[in-house]
Amino acid sequence: MATNGELGRKLRMGIVGGGQGSFIGRVHVTAAVLDNRAALVAGAFSSDPARSKASAADYDVPAARAYGSYAEMFSKEQALPVGERIDFVSIATPNHMHFPVAKAALEAGFHVVCDKPLTLTLAEAEELARLVEASKSVFVVSHNYTGYPLVRQAREMILAGELGEIQAIRAEYIQGWLRTRLESEGQKQAAWRTDPTKSGAAGCFGDIGTHAYNLGRYMTGLLPGSISAHLKIFVPDRPLDDYGHAVIRYENGALGTVTASQISHGRENDLRIQIDGTLGSLEWHQEEPNKMVVRHNGKPHFLYTRDPNAPSTNDLGKAACRLPSGHPEAFFEAFANIYRGGFDAMALALTGKAFEKVNTVYPNVCDGTEGMYFIQQAVASSRADGQWLPLKHTLARR
Ligand code: NAD
Repeated sequence: MATNGELGRKLRMGIVGGGQGSFIGRVHVTAAVLDNRAALVAGAFSSDPARSKASAADYDVPAARAYGSYAEMFSKEQALPVGERIDFVSIATPNHMHFPVAKAALEAGFHVVCDKPLTLTLAEAEELARLVEASKSVFVVSHNYTGYPLVRQAREMILAGELGEIQAIRAEYIQGWLRTRLESEGQKQAAWRTDPTKSGAAGCFGDIGTHAYNLGRYMTGLLPGSISAHLKIFVPDRPLDDYGHAVIRYENGALGTVTASQISHGRENDLRIQIDGTLGSLEWHQEEPNKMVVRHNGKPHFLYTRDPNAPSTNDLGKAACRLPSGHPEAFFEAFANIYRGGFDAMALALTGKAFEKVNTVYPNVCDGTEGMYFIQQAVASSRADGQWLPLKHTLARR
C-alpha cells in the first residue's frame, strides 16, 4: 500500500535518461518504487528519440508515454488531466543536461529529483536555486551516500556531540576504471565524463570528489571556510582531472581532506570517511556500508552494525533501515531513502501543505549548489598552484 499520507495514491514519475545501455537511471527507478510510493509512468529515456521509444518497454512504460524529448514529455504531460500527469521528474542524464531539463521541469510545475553534480556551472546552479525558491516544487539532489543508515546514525551522533568537537575529516573516493583511456574505446560513460562540455570544469573531482566532500559536510554539519586543491591529469590526452587532493579549512578550526581518484588499480567504489573529534573517532566505508567503527583511546573499538532494533541505533539511523540486522542493505536502499524524504515533501506539496525546502533530510538544491561551488573553487585553486580560496557558499547549511 502506498504511504503518501493524505495524498492517498502513488506519485507518478517521469524520467529523463535511463535509456538502454545507461547506468544510473535504472537505479533511480528502482529506488523510487522500492517503498511502493511511486510508479514510473513516462519517460524521455534517451537523447535519441528512437532509443527512447525502444527503452520504454524495459520499464513497462506504454509507448504513448515514451517521448522523443524531455520538452515533448513536459508539454504533453502538462496537457493531461491533473489526475494522470506526472508529479515529478527524475533527471539521470549526463551533467550538461541537468540544468536545461531541471529548469524546464520547474517551469512546467513538476517536482524534481536531479542527479549530481547539480549543473555544468555554478551560475546555473544558483539560477536553479532561485527558481526553486520561487516555485512550489520540491527539489532533491541525489547525493545518495547520505541515505545510508549508518551515515545518518553518524550525523545524529556527531551533532549530539558524542565525538566532541570535530577536528579532522578525511574523505576519499577511490576508483580505478579510468586508468586507461577508456573514453577512446567507445565506452560512453567514460566519454562524457572526460569531456569538459558535458562533464563540467572538473572530471574526477566533479564526478566523485563532490560525493566525498558532501559526505563530510553531511556527517559533521561543519561549515567550510576555505580550500586549497591540486588536481592532476595522469592519463595522457585526457582534458580533465583523473586524480586530486583538496585541503579544507572549516570555520571551527577543523581540517579536512578530500582525495578522489579514477586511476588507482583495482579500486572500485571505495568511498570512505574518517572523522576525528576530541572525544572519539569514527570510520565508515561505502563498500561495507552496514558497519561503522567508533574508537576511543584506551577502550575496545565499537563496531556499530546496521540494526534497527539495537538500543545503540539512534532515531535517524533507525528510520533509514528497512530490513532486520544482518540482511545487507546497500546502494539501492540508500538511494531509496533519498527518494523517501523527497516523497514526504511532495505529498505535502500536492495536498496544499507547507513543506521545508532548506533544512531537509534529503540533499536539496542548496547542497547541489554547494557542490558546484566546491568544484569551481577546487579547479580555480589548482590552476593557481593551490592558492587558498573561499569555500563557504551563501546557501551552505548545517
Ligand atoms: P549514462 O551515460 O550511463 O546515461 C545517461 C543517459 O541519459 C543515457 O540513457 C542517455 O541516452 C540519456 N540522455 C542524454 N541526453 C539526454 C537527453 N537530452 N534527453 C533524454 N535522455 C538523455 O550516464 P550515467 O552514468 O547514468 O550518469 C548520469 C548522471 O548520473 C550523471 O550526472 C552522473 O554524474 C550521475 N551519476 C550519479 C551517481 C550517483 O551515485 N548518484 C552514479 C552514477 C552517475
